[in-house]
Amino acid sequence: MENEMKCPQCGAMIDAKSIHCRFCGAKVAGQVPPQQQYQQQYQQQAPPPGAGYNPTPNAVPPGYERKSKLVAGILQLVFGYLGVGRFYLGYHNIAVAQLLVSIFTCGIGTIWPIIDGIMIITGSVPADGNGVPLKE
Ligand SMILES: [Zn+2]
Repeated sequence: MENEMKCPQCGAMIDAKSIHCRFCGAKVAGQVPPQQQYQQQYQQQAPPPGAGYNPTPNAVPPGYERKSKLVAGILQLVFGYLGVGRFYLGYHNIAVAQLLVSIFTCGIGTIWPIIDGIMIITGSVPADGNGVPLKE
């Protein structure tokens, strides 16, 4: 029966609108049905709207270690002919290209990674290979 509920005290089926159980006399009015209790609990646990991680093109993923602009630039100035600064930033294709250019131009091509290092330090490279902004 829809209009019946179980007395929490004695377990007998009683009228849902009754205030006291007609079998044991326990106060039953105002009892929250188990299903409703679950919904209230769920709503408390659910995060507020907009609190979740909202991915944007240049967002820093949770727990992601941002690459240092200065570290990358110095690595690139000193070891740029090996593409070290670009490897550090995650630009593996550029790093390999710089390494190959250095080899095949007998060192003349190392001007590229040096300019690259200056550009990284001055902020011309705003993000690493994963699109995450560099830190100062
Ligand atoms: Zn009862």
